Amino acid sequence: MTILSNVLKIKNFVKTLLIKDNISLVVRRTLGSNGNFDYDLAVIGGGSGGLACAKEAVNQGAKVAVLDYVTPSPQGTKWGLGGTCVNVGCIPKKLMHQAAILGESIHEAVSYGWQVPQLENIKIDWAALTQSVQNHIKSVNWVTRVDLRDKKIEYINGLGEFKDPHTLIATLKNGSKKELTARNIVIAVGGRPHYPDIPGAVEYCISSDDVFSLSHPPGKTLVVGAGYIGLECAGFLNSLGYPATVLVRSVPLRGFDQQMARTVTNEMEERGVKFHHRCVPLGVEKLTSGQLKASWLNTETKEQFEDVFDTVLMATGRYALTKSLNLEAAGVNTLSENGKIVAETEQTNVPHIYAVGDVLEGRPELTPVAIHAGRLLARRMFAAAAQQMDYENVATTVFTPLEYGCVGMSEERAIERYGADNVEVYHAYYKPTEFFIPQRNIKNCYLKAVAAREPPQKVLGLHFVGPVAGEVIQGFAAAVKCGITMEQLMNTIGIHPTVAEEFTRLNITKRSGRDPNPASCCS
Ligand code: FAD
Repeated sequence: MTILSNVLKIKNFVKTLLIKDNISLVVRRTLGSNGNFDYDLAVIGGGSGGLACAKEAVNQGAKVAVLDYVTPSPQGTKWGLGGTCVNVGCIPKKLMHQAAILGESIHEAVSYGWQVPQLENIKIDWAALTQSVQNHIKSVNWVTRVDLRDKKIEYINGLGEFKDPHTLIATLKNGSKKELTARNIVIAVGGRPHYPDIPGAVEYCISSDDVFSLSHPPGKTLVVGAGYIGLECAGFLNSLGYPATVLVRSVPLRGFDQQMARTVTNEMEERGVKFHHRCVPLGVEKLTSGQLKASWLNTETKEQFEDVFDTVLMATGRYALTKSLNLEAAGVNTLSENGKIVAETEQTNVPHIYAVGDVLEGRPELTPVAIHAGRLLARRMFAAAAQQMDYENVATTVFTPLEYGCVGMSEERAIERYGADNVEVYHAYYKPTEFFIPQRNIKNCYLKAVAAREPPQKVLGLHFVGPVAGEVIQGFAAAVKCGITMEQLMNTIGIHPTVAEEFTRLNITKRSGRDPNPASCCS
């Protein structure tokens, strides 16, 4: 036993030396022949993907510079280092969602016996909320900056563009220019909110870039767009006490499972969010009162509508920030329709220029996707690694008042791919235990598993609408990645009483037509 373990130890030691040697060889090869370049790697964009790539590259011994610059929004909002997620995306969104949940919890607490004086007077202090959110963001900006300094990554607070395939020009805040050369370049510039081409959009409307630091309470708000950003914003605003109306051009949450999307919007409607379906905005006008008169068209009935709002928030998609990069000078191709970059393995058509994150065509626009792709790319560039990013089965969550988490295929996608006869859908409504006492609405607590019909019924997708959906789906996402089957899911013992255990209790197929409503909580 001891001899065997010693042999194994020696084997591992030799292996480590070989790997280290191999890496240093690669680094030497890359750096040693670096010759005339200032850096081994220059990253344009200090957001999720760019920073992850830069940090991993220095871990592998590369000399790295990161350029990051935030062009103010049309309303003048700007922010610090770290990109969309930290400043105007995932983080402030989740904090506002949490603020909304806490407000509801105060009311629920009363039903559990908490004595809350003057419950009817409870309301959010918008200024205090935004201040807390912004303080947190600023602390993250600071930590990010310190981290770059500690790792000896050169941070250049400048707007980058190509001069030639290996040379970048950074325009700094004071207008001065700085030139740098790099052997490899990663484009990680992300995207920004798109504004529809209608009167008043750019002048008077805000976007998700502005809402988390808005200097005044948003009041009655029109949200144009029913993608996940639109629904999340409408959801937390409404729950914070600002009545929200949503204009839906086609369907809500396009690309997601549509039954689940309807479940999410049903819940929002039941909580007071108004939806206008098949409607596109026509214009936004500023009244002398300072309020905004918005008009829109129902594209089916051709009827026109108008209403007055305090805030109009555009959530009509995002565009890739590639236009200002002067990519022609480097010979990098982009798609004419959306400016995105096609890069199968994050490598553009110019071999030493790569791209990660939201700027990529056909990839999920999510922070963990950008981070993982960036990290793997750095290892391939500087550590002779071969692992490619796997964009399949990426889990995500929509943080609407009742959250929606999913991984894998929607029911529609599975049927489109395999045919209805080859797909089995297990589904159930359920009652979260914690909903009973406050008598919360359980109508929309619903989940389903989309599976291959053929035994052992490989799971193709899992969908969950309910509390803490993100936490629920994260663990199951690992199981789906490992190829879990319905048989294995049904043989998994649940943790009782949780909402996640509902996946292990699934046993009714849609095909059977049996009632998916729960009989009782514990049987
Ligand atoms: P970014 O993080 O956008 O970083 C790009 C950086 O490059 C920016 O700082 C930009 O200013 C800078 N830049 C651009 N052009 C230049 C240039 N020429 N020179 C120098 N710098 C430049 N994802 C999730 O996973 N979960 C969520 O819950 C979630 N919620 C979101 C909510 C909202 C409201 C939004 C808008 C997004 C959300 N996302 C979420 C998406 C997530 O934020 C993005 O997928 C992620 O930030 C993409 O990272 P990236 O590195 O591609 O780009």
